[in-house]
Formats: sequence, C-alpha cells, structure tokens
Amino acid sequence: MFAELREVEFISSFQDDLLEVEVLGEVGDEETQYPVHGLTIGSKDPSAPTLGLFAGVHGLEKVGTHVVLAYLKHLLTQMKWDQDLRTALSHCRICSIPLINPWGMDNFRRSNATGVDLMRNAPVEMDNTISRTFLVSGHRFSSVLPWYRGQEEGPMEKENQLVDEFVKKNIFQSKAALSIDFHSGFGMKDRLWYPYSKTKEPFPHHKQALTVARLLDETFAHHVYKVEQQSDSYTIMGDLWDYFYDESRKVLGEDSVYIPWTLEMGSWIWVKKNPMQLLNIDGLFNPVVSHRYDRTMRRHLLLIDFFFRMVRNNQVWIK
Ligand SMILES: [Zn+2]
Repeated sequence: MFAELREVEFISSFQDDLLEVEVLGEVGDEETQYPVHGLTIGSKDPSAPTLGLFAGVHGLEKVGTHVVLAYLKHLLTQMKWDQDLRTALSHCRICSIPLINPWGMDNFRRSNATGVDLMRNAPVEMDNTISRTFLVSGHRFSSVLPWYRGQEEGPMEKENQLVDEFVKKNIFQSKAALSIDFHSGFGMKDRLWYPYSKTKEPFPHHKQALTVARLLDETFAHHVYKVEQQSDSYTIMGDLWDYFYDESRKVLGEDSVYIPWTLEMGSWIWVKKNPMQLLNIDGLFNPVVSHRYDRTMRRHLLLIDFFFRMVRNNQVWIK
C-alpha cells in the first residue's frame, strides 16, 4: 500500500465518538482496487454548518492530500484535550474525502485508471463568454491525451459518483457550507478560487464569496492567496465544483448557501527555486525541499482553520 493511503487508514483508525469513517466504495483497474474513504467529524446533524475538505482528484498532486491529512490529524489530536473545540464541533461538522483518486496517486497519473481527468468529467459546459484552450479546457478526443473528459453519454466516473453521493449526503442539507478542494501545479501563486470555471459571469453567491475574501484579508493581513473567480485564470468544461454548486441550488432553500472553493497551490515557484525538481515527476506538483514542504503545510493549515471559523460564524458572510 502506498504512503498516502496508509496515512488515510491510520487517521481513520483514530478512536473518537465525534469521528465517523466510511469506505464509500472501491476504484481502480482490473488488477488493483483501492478503497475511497469518507470522514465526518463533529455534529451528526446534516443541517449543521459544514466544512468540506477534498483532495487527490489528480493523482500527481500529492501535496493537496498531504495538506488535508495533516489538518485532519492535527484536528483529531487537538480534540483529545481541547474541550472548547469539542463544544464547537457539537454544532458544526467537517466532512472530507482526502484521496479521491487513489489509483492515480499510486500510478503517478493525473487521470484515473480509464484515463479520465476527473475535474473535467462533470456534465457542465462552458458558455461563450470565454475562449477555450485547446485540449486543456477539456476534450472528448481520446483518453490517451491529458485533460480527457470521458464519453459524452453515461454517468460520471466511479470516483466522481462516490464524491457526488458523499457531497449530497453531507453538504447539501447544511444551512451554511463551504468546501475546499486542494490542487497544485498551476502558476507561481497560491490561488484561491470561487465558482465559476465555466463562465466569466459572476456566480449567484459572488457577494458572499467576496465577503469571505475580505474577512481573510482583514484577519490575515499578510496572507499569500490570490483570491479570484476561477474563470479569471483557469477555464474548463466539466468542473466538478461548478456542477455541485449548481446542483446545490436546486435543493437548498433561499436561506442556505454552499460555496465550493478550490485552492490551486502554485508549484512553479517550487520548481523555480529548485530546478532539479524538473528531473522528478513528483517535483513538478509537490514541494520537494523539506523546509518548503513544512512551510506549505503550515500555511494552508491556517487557511483551513479560517474556513472552519467562517462556517461556524456564517452569519457574518451568508447574508
Ligand atoms: Zn489538480
């Protein structure tokens, strides 16, 4: 078993009555099947304010899974002695799938076993406010090429079906929910994106997203994140979070809000500072030098904690 899956199983074995772990299903190829774990921590009430943490959609981007696992381990350890935290968790919750594409991570592939880019596989099309980037925006030519969306007809890939069920069960009933999906690889900066990716038009909760961004600026004056609508930098078809946001609008009442965020950790800076990383496929998407790795972990744990507080104090941004 590879290191990240072993760590998921280790964290899943923590004993705490506020932790629930479920194997959502198995994915992989004919030779090897891998479990996909879903964790929930805190209140059992699905209408409670909820923070979702997701990672490992793209198998090469291990650092996202590392950040989420580091946070979950930190939280579960702190819960052993911090009664204030336990009290807070009695009326809110965190739900997480820290490793969505285990086959990809074990096989050093961005895609899943059938060659599909899971972040381009949802039934969402771009509108004509934006121009497509050939192949990169998503295509249906062939699974041999990267950024392949899968076939037009039929359900989403198994990994995405598991995420779909989990999100609908654990987030769509919440009165106030935020989620972060962790990626790495694009650009020099850490970009924190709110929807949409499919259009340049503002999404319906643009105002709420900007309030969260303003509070981040005010609370952490020296934070590193470039906060923007995803389509300002990166436009794709079939974005999973565009899809979940639109789906949530169909079932959530007027007073309930779910905003899915994406963190794209800018890994080009890691390569620039250490060009030897180019010799190693891992190094393109993950920080290699240990002080840089430690800094990456620390920085984003603070961000997750800020989002957790936003969920608990949702009255400040939800209106
Ligand atoms: Zn990615």
